[in-house]
Amino acid sequence: MRIIAACNSVISSTLISALAVLATLAAASAGERFSTRYSASLTAFLGLDTLRIEQAARDVWLAHPSLLKQWELISAEANATYNGALNTIEVSPALTLPAGSLESGKRRLKTVPELLADSPAYAVHVTTVFHELAHAEYDVLVEEGATAADRRLFSLIEREIRPSFASRFPRVSSEVAVSEYFAYFHGAVLELLFEERHQLLFYNGIDPLTGACLPLRSLREKARELPLREFLELNGLGAGDETPYAERIQVDYVFVQGRDLALSIGEPGHFRPEWKAEFWRHFEAFYQPPRNRLALLQALREDAALSAQVARCRATLLVER
Ligand SMILES: [Zn+2]
Repeated sequence: MRIIAACNSVISSTLISALAVLATLAAASAGERFSTRYSASLTAFLGLDTLRIEQAARDVWLAHPSLLKQWELISAEANATYNGALNTIEVSPALTLPAGSLESGKRRLKTVPELLADSPAYAVHVTTVFHELAHAEYDVLVEEGATAADRRLFSLIEREIRPSFASRFPRVSSEVAVSEYFAYFHGAVLELLFEERHQLLFYNGIDPLTGACLPLRSLREKARELPLREFLELNGLGAGDETPYAERIQVDYVFVQGRDLALSIGEPGHFRPEWKAEFWRHFEAFYQPPRNRLALLQALREDAALSAQVARCRATLLVER
C-alpha cells in the first residue's frame, strides 16, 4: 500500500494573500483544533503520542478544498495535500466533519473510528491525512529547528540527504523530495502499525474491521494451555514479537512531482540505512511509538473497550466448547 499525495508549491502571491484570509476564517476555535480528535484517536488506536501533531497544527489551518480546486491549486483527484506557502492542509470533505455549529462552516478531521465506520479502506485514509500532517510538521517544526532533535535531523538532511537527492534525481526539487521522504516515512510507520494491529486482532479471534468474534480453533486449543486470566486477554504471536519496528520500516519509493524516486537498497546511491535510522530516532523522540509487537500489544491491552471485546469473544469460545 502506497500513499500518493499531490503537494503543490507554485501559486501566485495574490492568491496567497486571498487564501491566507480564508484560512484564518476557517481556523478552529481555541482549545480544540481541526486535528485534535483525530490525534487523540490515533493515540488510542495505535499507541502513539500525538502531541507533536497538535504542536504543528498550531500554525496550520484546514482549508476549504472546493475553492482551492476551483482555482486549480490542488488536483481534483488528490485526496489530501499540504500547501507550504499557505500553511494549509486540504483534505477531501469525505475525510472531515463539521466542527461546532453548521453555520460556522468549520470542519475537523474525522477520527480513526469515524473513518473505520465509513470504509474498510480506513487505514489508507488515516495514513493519507497523517502524511499531510507530516508535511506540516516538517514545514513548521523541522525546517524551523524547533527542538534539538529537529535541528539534528535537518542538519543531516541539508548536509547529506538533499545533496544526494539533487545529484540522483536532478529533474525534481530536492527540497520537495526530502519533505516527501519525511512524510512517506511517517506514513510507513502508520501502515506498519495498522498491519500489526490487524494481524494481532485476527490472531486473537477478532475481526479488525467489524469487531466480530471469530471462532478460531487455535483459540479453543489455547484455552487448554493457558491460565484463564491470560486466556481472556490479547496474546502475542510468538515469532517476531520482539523484532524492532525500526528494522521493519522501509520506504522504497517516494512520489515527487509526478515521478517515482526509487530509494531501496540495491539502487545506485540508495537511501542509506543510517539516514533511515535518524528518521526513526526523530519520530521516536516525539511519537514514542511501540518499539515492537509486544509493546503494541501492551498498548492495545490498555484499551478498555477492546479488552472487554476480547473477553466477550473468549467467553463465547468457552461456552461453545
Ligand atoms: Zn506528500
